[in-house]
Order: sequence, then C-alpha cells, then structure tokens
Amino acid sequence: MYAQTDLIAKLSAKIATIHTSPPPENALPSEDALSNARSKLQRHLPSSGLGLEETVRHLRQDIIPGLNASSRSSNYYGFVTGGSTPAASLAENIVTAYDQNCAVHLPNEAVTINVEDRALTLLAELLKLDPTQWPHRIFTTGATSSNILGIACGREYIIAEASALRSEGITSVGEMGILESMRRAGVDRIQVLTTAPHSSLVKAAGILGLGRASVVDVGLQDKPHKFDVPKLKKLLEAPGTASIVAVSACEVNSGLFATSNLTEMEELRKLADMYGAWIHVDGAMGLMGRILDSPTYQTIIDSCAGLELADSLTGDGHKLLNVPYDCGFFFSRHREIPARVFQNPNAAYLSAGPGGDEIMSPLNIGLENSRRFRALPVYASLTAYGKDGYRDMLERQVELSRGFAEYLYGSEDFELLPKFEGKKEEVLANIFMIVMFRAKDEGLNKEVTNRIKATRKIYASGTAFEGKPACRLAVSNWMADVQRDLPTIKEVLGRVVAEWKENN
Ligand SMILES: *Cc1c(COP(=O)(O)O)cnc(C)c1O
Repeated sequence: MYAQTDLIAKLSAKIATIHTSPPPENALPSEDALSNARSKLQRHLPSSGLGLEETVRHLRQDIIPGLNASSRSSNYYGFVTGGSTPAASLAENIVTAYDQNCAVHLPNEAVTINVEDRALTLLAELLKLDPTQWPHRIFTTGATSSNILGIACGREYIIAEASALRSEGITSVGEMGILESMRRAGVDRIQVLTTAPHSSLVKAAGILGLGRASVVDVGLQDKPHKFDVPKLKKLLEAPGTASIVAVSACEVNSGLFATSNLTEMEELRKLADMYGAWIHVDGAMGLMGRILDSPTYQTIIDSCAGLELADSLTGDGHKLLNVPYDCGFFFSRHREIPARVFQNPNAAYLSAGPGGDEIMSPLNIGLENSRRFRALPVYASLTAYGKDGYRDMLERQVELSRGFAEYLYGSEDFELLPKFEGKKEEVLANIFMIVMFRAKDEGLNKEVTNRIKATRKIYASGTAFEGKPACRLAVSNWMADVQRDLPTIKEVLGRVVAEWKENN
C-alpha cells in the first residue's frame, strides 16, 4: 500500500480536476443520472476489492453524476446549504491527509488545538464578539449539536441557580442527574421559552431529558418570530420553574429575527437575570449578520445587536461561513459550566499534561472525544479572505435575496411572505438571505415547489406558512452573483407560471 504513492499522485490529480471544472449548469442531476448512479452502487462488499484506480473511476463516472450541485454552484437554494470557499476546500484536503485527532490539547506534540483555538478567536472577531468574554468555545458537527450544547449548559446553569437559593454547594445536573438535582433545587418544571424555534432546538430538548414538550412558543400572534414579552415574563415567574430563553436569530422559514434591536436584547437579559434563566441564541444563520456594516443593511445590523448579551451562541460553519460539512461552532460566556457538563471523568490517559497555556482540551468541553480537524478549513478561509472578503460574500448573498424579493413584490403571480407593511424599500430592508413566497393561484401554489424542482435548474424547499404551502429560497453560497443568478431564478419562475397557465 505504501508503494502506491505514484498512483495516488496520478489519481489525486484526476480528482483535483473536479475543483477546477466549471460549476454544473443545473442544481439537480437529471433523473436518468440519478437512476444510473443508483444502479451502479455496489450491491455487496467485494471480496478482493476493486483497487484504487477502478474505485476512483467508479466514483467519478458513476457516483458523482448522481450528486446535486450543492456547494459547487450557487443555484442550489434548498434548506440552507452553504458552499465551500476555495481556501476552505483546499484546507479540507489537508485535514484528510493529516487526519489529526482533535480531542486532547497536546501543546508539546502538535499545534492542532492551537489552530482550533485561533480559528475560534478569529471567528469571534469576525462576529464582533470579544474572545475574552467567551472562554467556552468549540467547533461542533453543526448547529444541531451546538444547540444541544447550549441547552445542556443552560440546564446545568438554571438548576444550579435555583438550588443556590436553598442549599450550600453546587447542584450539578451532570453529576447528580436531572431528577435528583431538580429535587434538590425545588424545581418541578424546566421550560425552554422561545419563538419559531428551529426543529433542532426541540430535538435538543428531547435528547437532554427536558422533553420536546418543554419547548414553549411565546411568539406574538401577528409576528410569530417575536417575543410576547408580557407572556414571557409571566411564564418566567411561575413558581417551581427554571427557564432557558432561546432566541431565534434568525428564523429558518421567514429569515426574520426574534429581536429587532439592542434594547430588546437588554430587556431579555434583564428578565433572565431576574429569574435565573439562561439565554441561548440559535444564530445558525443570523449570527453572520453581525459582519455587515453598511446602512443598506441597518435593519439586519440592528436585529443582530445585543446578541453578545446571551449566555450561549450557536453558529454554523457549513452554512454562511461556507466551509465544508460538518462544521458548526458554539460560544458560551461561562468558564465554569463546561467541566460540570462535559468532563470525561476518571480518564487519566486523556489528560493533556503540563501545557502552559489556557486552552481547554476539546473532549472536556463538548460532546465528542475523537474529533475531525474541522477547524482548519475555517482558519484557512478566514485567513484567506479576512473581514472584508466575508462581508463582500455576504453582501452579494443579501443582494441576490433582495433582488428576488423585489421581483416577488412586483409580481402578479407570486406573493412575498410574510406580508410586510410599508413601502417597497422598507419591506426589502427586512430581507436577509431567506425569501419565502407563494403562488397567488391556489392550484399552482400546491405544486409550485415541485415544479421549480422539476426544472432541475434551481432548487428550492417547500414549507408551510399560515396553514398553506409555501416555497422558500435560502441563499447561502459564497458564489452568489446577482447579475448571473437573478435572471436564472426569474427565468425558472416565469417558466413555471407560463407552463401552468398553458395547461390550466
Ligand atoms: C440549519 C439550522 C440549524 C441546524 O443546523 P445543522 O447545521 O443542520 O445541524 C439550527 N438552527 C437554525 C436556525 C438553522 O438554520
């Protein structure tokens, strides 16, 4: 196997052409390509193996044509699917070649965890967060696991806070378990108070033993993404309860933020402090809004103001940061919480030994032990493009979203959702990188997402809004280019309407 280096060089060069070939025309492979790829998959484990050369041929010729354009093209607007910048993609190859295990910080043996820590510091700077205020920081597999970390830390904190009023010493959920610690703390109900939460937040509450039913939506009737503050206050003060307040920044369907300005975050902070609650921000998308600085984006900038007042923050790497899957990140302001929640107990062989710096071993502050070096693509991409490069990428994505929203605003066939009050400019000022809409014709509306997908040219996600089907485009690729991409989107929607009208 070692003697194969020439072959590896040759085959790597072959694979590398994928990086330099032009992006695919269509967001989706044809149905033929899909069924062909599916039929070529190995049915059984081969006994002697196909060998490297044949396997690379199989991947290139059989599997790749069945993949969607995803990161490689900017016309994939499904879910929130980020791309991968060239710097991040190159670094990703190094990650695989060197296959570092990022579990334990071993400063005398490798610089790996120093890179991870520095990548997190650079990221904090990008997001206008003071790294010294966020000592608990770590890369995760994605925003879902970051939300699990947030709820886990919040659970630990709020029970300890409730218990501190009654007994000496720290009541730790991590140590005593949830039942015993709640009993000690005199808490009979834990609630996660939020608005329009992402499904993964509810999943996190389920996994962590709070129960999916502990998540209470306290959104306003007419603005479901925003807090009904009197209702929030009432729930916070209920006796025997401990609360996590989860802020959706921004909400995955509409792209709207739970808070509109610093004052609103300050109000949440005041309430949380009053009732010993923990504030977790799900900023999988919205956190990146903090890098904007032009008045064109003032509404977004204001909506991201004050997020630094939270106790913990979820961020996503593989979305707007445009690094490869799987990469999320998590920041918390509480230095003392992670050891109580995540410490590997009684595993002397995992300890770092004398290191002399302040960097905590990832295995004691997050979910995983053995971990991928997912920090390197982040480090490389932030280094390559800097603050200005990232701002430029995001501005192009917001501009494309607003261009599309403007088209919908003026359209006879489509309606921009949710319905905003005000002049066109005021409406467009709310648009960040998600654009939700429906067809005005009810019949077409039922099919519009599938008809868009059937063109295979662009990809959109179906959703529901106010009890009716809706469609949404999420722009999250660094390649976004208004001049090139907006006409394609309009052309596809125009075609979908024309074909519908012809047949109905
Ligand atoms: C995408 C998303 C998540 C889940 O993120 P993954 O990276 O897919 O785990 C959580 N919250 C919000 C707001 C999201 O947009």
